[in-house]
Amino acid sequence: MDFDAIIILGPQGSGKSTQGKRLAEKLGFFFWDTGEVLRDIYKKGGPLAEKLAPGMEHGVLLSDEIIIEVLQERLPALSPTQGVIFDGVPRRLGQGQFLLEFLKGQKRKRPVTVFVDVPREVSHERLLRRASIEKRADDTPEAIAERLRAYDETMRPVMEYLRAETTFITIDGRPSVEEIEKNIDAALGLART
Ligand code: AMP
Repeated sequence: MDFDAIIILGPQGSGKSTQGKRLAEKLGFFFWDTGEVLRDIYKKGGPLAEKLAPGMEHGVLLSDEIIIEVLQERLPALSPTQGVIFDGVPRRLGQGQFLLEFLKGQKRKRPVTVFVDVPREVSHERLLRRASIEKRADDTPEAIAERLRAYDETMRPVMEYLRAETTFITIDGRPSVEEIEKNIDAALGLART
């Protein structure tokens, strides 16, 4: 398969970021971590940082308007000749439309979406375990369940859009990290390493 942009999707606890990073390293692609981009802007301060504060401090999704402002500011730094993997974006339809338009403008090939699919009970279980290891007291079972439910709800139209506009690959996120990695490689037509 010939591609130079990947969108990696999956609920919290799906392991998609681990997979995205591994893939970026293997392919020599730039790894775009939306949370990290936002934290960087927030730390540096300024007018845009102020707009990020409510989301960053309370963990609520930022508006499309703000995210698009962030994308407008940071995406042009991407070299059009280097492949890229997006993690954490798009989370809403407007972001998805903006992102795909931008990639088209960079004359990129049809993007590939890799959706790491896990049943909600499995991500719930994994997040609970992570919360207890990291002693995150605010990660109650109820709060985790609510985050996962909200994720499914906001992602539904985004997934529908990406299914239509990108090459959409669904990967079972239940096996081990190594197994998932192998399955992603096979789906993308990468040689076994
Ligand atoms: P994360 O590191 O992915 O958990 O992101 C940290 C915070 O940034 C989240 O709690 C949201 O407030 C915000 N955020 C990250 N990505 C997005 C996005 N694509 N759209 C809206 N808000 C986002």
